[in-house]
Amino acid sequence: MDFELTEDQRALKATIREFAEAEVAPRAAEWDRQGIFPLETIRKLGDLGVMGIPFPEEYGGLGQGSFELAIVMEELARVDSSVAITVGANVSLGGAPIALFGTEEQKQRWLAPLARGEVLGAFGATEPGCGSDLQGTRTTAREEDDHWVINGTKAFITNAGTEMSAFVTITAVTGMRPDGRREISNILVPNGTPGYSSARPYHKLGWHASDTRELSFEECRVPRDHLVGQRGAGARQFLAVLDGGRIGVAAMSVGLAVGALEMALAYAKERTAFGRPIASNQAVAFKLADLDMEIEAARLLTYKAAKLRDAGRPFAREAAHAKLFASELAVRAADAAMQVFGGFGYIEESPIPRFYRDAKILTIGEGTSEIQRLVIARHLGCQVS
Ligand SMILES: Cc1cc2nc3c(=O)[nH]c(=O)nc-3n(C[C@H](O)[C@H](O)[C@H](O)COP(=O)(O)OP(=O)(O)OC[C@H]3O[C@@H](n4cnc5c(N)ncnc54)[C@H](O)[C@@H]3O)c2cc1C
Repeated sequence: MDFELTEDQRALKATIREFAEAEVAPRAAEWDRQGIFPLETIRKLGDLGVMGIPFPEEYGGLGQGSFELAIVMEELARVDSSVAITVGANVSLGGAPIALFGTEEQKQRWLAPLARGEVLGAFGATEPGCGSDLQGTRTTAREEDDHWVINGTKAFITNAGTEMSAFVTITAVTGMRPDGRREISNILVPNGTPGYSSARPYHKLGWHASDTRELSFEECRVPRDHLVGQRGAGARQFLAVLDGGRIGVAAMSVGLAVGALEMALAYAKERTAFGRPIASNQAVAFKLADLDMEIEAARLLTYKAAKLRDAGRPFAREAAHAKLFASELAVRAADAAMQVFGGFGYIEESPIPRFYRDAKILTIGEGTSEIQRLVIARHLGCQVS
C-alpha cells in the first residue's frame, strides 16, 4: 500500500492549508469565544468543492475518495476543529447515507446540492436515552396515507439547525421484528416540515462554532418516498455510515494533534527558563518527540483505512483502529501542549485551551473509544458485548 501523496493530493493539501491559514485561523478564537457558526467560511469551503470530495461528479461531487477527504479534514482540524467537524459531519453523516443507499431521485434532490456546497445535511441517530446502542431507539415512524408520521426526540445532532441546513436523515422504529427486536429504518426529514423543530444550540465544552442541537418530531409527516435505503435496514446502514465517518474523525484527530505539536514546539524553542529554551530539557523535548512519532502512526492508520475503503475492501476494523488511536492521541497532544505552555496554556488568550476543549469529544462522537474496542475485539473473534 503506497501512502505517498500524488501531485493532485499534494496540491489539494496545499490549497486547504492556505485556506485554513488565511480564512479560518485568524477568526477561530473569536468564533469559539462567541459561539458563532462561520456560515461564510463554510460557504467558501463549499465553493472550493470540499463538500463533494467523495461523491460522484454526476451528483455535484469531485469523484475522489476517503483519502482526499482525510487530507482535507487533517488540514482544517490543524487550525480549527469546529470548521473541520462541520465539513466532516456534512459529508460523512449528511451526504453519505444518501450516496450509499439513496434512490436516484434522492441523490439528485438532496445529495447534489449538498455536494455542491449549497446546503448542509445532518444525521440523527442519538436520542436522550440511547447513543451507542441503537436498539434503544424510541423515535417511531408509522405509515399513514402514503406518509411516514414521525414522533420522538434526537439528541446532540450536528449541522441540523444552521441557515444552510436542508435536511436530517434519522433512525426511527418502523415496527417490530419476529425476534422481538426493533425494526429500524432511515427516513429523511426536510427542514421546515411541520412537526419538525430544533432547540437552541447546546452549551458545549468545545466545538463552540459547530452547530449541535436537540431535534423534536411531533406527528411530523413526510412522504413515503423519504425512506432512505431499505425498510428495516436502518441499523445496518447507520453502522456502515459510521465506519466511513470514523476515518474522518481519525483524520481530524491527527490534525488537532499536529496543530498542538506545532504550537508546543514553537513555544518550547522560544520560551526560556533557567537561562535556556525549555526545549533543551529532555523532559520537554521527549514529550514532543513522542507526539511526532505517534502522529505519524495515527496518520498511517488513517490513510490505511481510507485506502482500503477507496479500494472497495473491508475497512471497519482499520477505521476503528484509526479512530481509537488517533482520538486518544489528540487528547494526549492537547494535554502535552498545555503542559509545555505552562500557565499561559491555561489562559484563554492562548490558543491551547480551545484545542484542549475540542479534543475530548473525538473519543466520544461517532462511536466512543469503548465501542471502537468492541468493534476490534469482535474482529478478533471475541464474543464480547
Ligand atoms: C458535540 C456532539 C456532536 C454529536 N453529533 C451527532 C450527530 O450528528 N448525530 C448523532 O446521531 N449523534 C451525534 N452525537 C452523539 C454521539 O455520537 C454519542 O454521544 C456517542 O455515540 C455516545 O452515545 P451516548 O452519549 O448515548 O453514550 P452511551 O451510549 O450512553 O455511553 C455512555 C458510556 O458507556 C459506554 N458504553 C456503552 N455501551 C458500552 C459497552 N457495550 N461496552 C463498554 N462501554 C460501553 C460508552 O463508551 C460511554 O463511555 C454527538 C455528540 C456530541 C457531544
